[in-house]
Order: sequence, then structure tokens, then C-alpha cells
Amino acid sequence: MATNWISATVIENRQLTDRHFALIFEAKLLPFKAGQFARLQVEVLNDDGELEKFANPYSLLNTPNDKYAEVYFNTVTNGKVSNGLASLKPGDTLEIAQPCVGFFVLSQIPDVKNLWMLSTGTGVGPYFSMLKTAEVWERFEKIILVHAVPIANELNYSDLIEKFTIEYPEQFQFIPIVSREDHEGILKGRIPALIKSGELEAKAGIEISKEDSHIMQCGNSGMLKDTKEVLKERGMDRHLNHKPGHISSEQYF
Ligand SMILES: Cc1cc2nc3c(=O)[nH]c(=O)nc-3n(C[C@H](O)[C@H](O)[C@H](O)COP(=O)(O)OP(=O)(O)OC[C@H]3O[C@@H](n4cnc5c(N)ncnc54)[C@H](O)[C@@H]3O)c2cc1C
Repeated sequence: MATNWISATVIENRQLTDRHFALIFEAKLLPFKAGQFARLQVEVLNDDGELEKFANPYSLLNTPNDKYAEVYFNTVTNGKVSNGLASLKPGDTLEIAQPCVGFFVLSQIPDVKNLWMLSTGTGVGPYFSMLKTAEVWERFEKIILVHAVPIANELNYSDLIEKFTIEYPEQFQFIPIVSREDHEGILKGRIPALIKSGELEAKAGIEISKEDSHIMQCGNSGMLKDTKEVLKERGMDRHLNHKPGHISSEQYF
């Protein structure tokens, strides 16, 4: 099927750290589900110094009802699309493939008591879209958002997280993890190791069990693979439509 590219206009490109950006843009998106992604296309110089279009997928942070679309991204060394997106200014245009796609959505998650949303880096993005919907609060008793980053100043979107914490104090928990710095009261290390040691569950005061938990995980392949291994020891497996399980994953790179 041919890709249908539509034009998008940048409203704001907010730099959050030296390499993290919140790109907010206006586009006539087709209806989509919270958690889905779309390919973004920018025209940048190729290695021969000529203008060329490059595209990569990015998860949307907004819900289908929001006025503007938003993606949370980081620049990658020599990355064509991420650096192209970082250079965009308000009023500039980019292209977005329609419709948005992907199965990392709430309708694919079975009914359970506790929903764990594990993320590394910008992998936290699709959860914000889901957390902005009514469905997630209606379906799950406890929602635990875990965000692992190398340094604490990459724990972006604290305003949004505070809003959920205030609005759903009994239902929502946010657990930050920082791997390369020591911060009092903040878990240090990697998600799989902190599950294995029991520290993540101790922090949440909630057990991860195959009886009442579902794990969503989004981010780099190392975290996804190692977390799957650790959860396998507890009898938890990949969730597939034809073979229900306990783990749903979205791999960024
Ligand atoms: C379904 C899906 C959704 C995605 N959503 C997002 C999103 O919301 N935000 C976001 O920032 N990225 C997201 N990505 C990753 C994104 O598509 C690009 O891979 C990334 O922005 C790099 O693109 P590039 O063109 O700059 O570099 P490329 O030339 O495509 O990649 C250069 C190298 O960087 C590696 N790489 C890719 N991403 C990262 C990263 N984050 N950190 C370190 N190395 C990386 C690649 O493996 C590759 O080796 C998503 C990927 C997928 C598959």
C-alpha cells in the first residue's frame, strides 16, 4: 500500500535537555488509538550534501481529541531524522504518514488488576497518550509508570506526571529510575535488575505476578529483552492475540 504523506506545521519545538525535544505540530490526522505511532519525514542533507527525504517512526503523546500532535524524541549521533526534527522551527513543515499504526494500545491489553508501564528514555511517550484517555483509569485498579533514564535531568514531563498523581492518587504511581547518578529516594540501575532484586516492587508496594499484572514495556531492545527474561522466571510470557500472555512490547531501536 502506498504511504499517504500529509503535511504538518510545527507549532513549537521545545528543547528539554541537550538532546531531548517535545515537537508539537498541527496536522489533519486520521482517527487513531492512544499509543500508536506514525512515520515522520523531513528533508535534510544526505551524506553527499544533497537534499533528501528521510523518515522514521515516532509515537504520539497526544490523544486523538487533542488539538495538536506531539512527539517526544531525542537526537541520535549522525541520525538523519532526529537531527532534522531537532532543527525545525515554528512555522516549518514536515510530513507525517497516515494513518497512525501499531498494536501497543490499550485494546490489546487483557483485563488485569495492575498495569505496569515500563519505559526507557523517550519510550515513556506512548504511555502519556494512554494516560490521557478515560479508558486506562476505568479498566485498571493500579497503574504504575516506570521511567528509566541515565541522568535525572532526562526525567522530562514532570508537570504531566504530577497532574496524573494529583488526579488519581490511589490509582497511579510514578517510579523514576536513574542509572548513572545517585539520588536519595530514587532507584538506581536498570529495570530488569530492579525487578529481579525485588526493589521495583518494594518501591511500588505492589507485586508483579502473572495472576494480576500485565507488563507493557517500551524503549531500547536491551531493556525489553532482559525484562522478558526476568519475567519468564515468574512464568510470565509475551502476550499475543492467539496466545494470551503478560507482556506487551514496543521496541524503538
Ligand atoms: C515504533 C517505533 C516508535 C518510535 N518512537 C520514537 C519516539 O517517540 N521518540 C524517539 O525519540 N524515537 C522513537 N523511535 C526511534 C526513531 O524511529 C528513530 O530510530 C530515532 O529517532 C533515530 O532516527 P535517526 O534517523 O535520527 O537515526 P537513524 O539513522 O535511523 O539511526 C541511527 C542509529 O541510532 C540508533 N538509535 C535509534 N534510536 C535511538 C535512541 N533513541 N537512542 C540511541 N540510539 C538510537 C539506531 O539503532 C541506529 O543504529 C521509534 C521507533 C519505532 C520502531
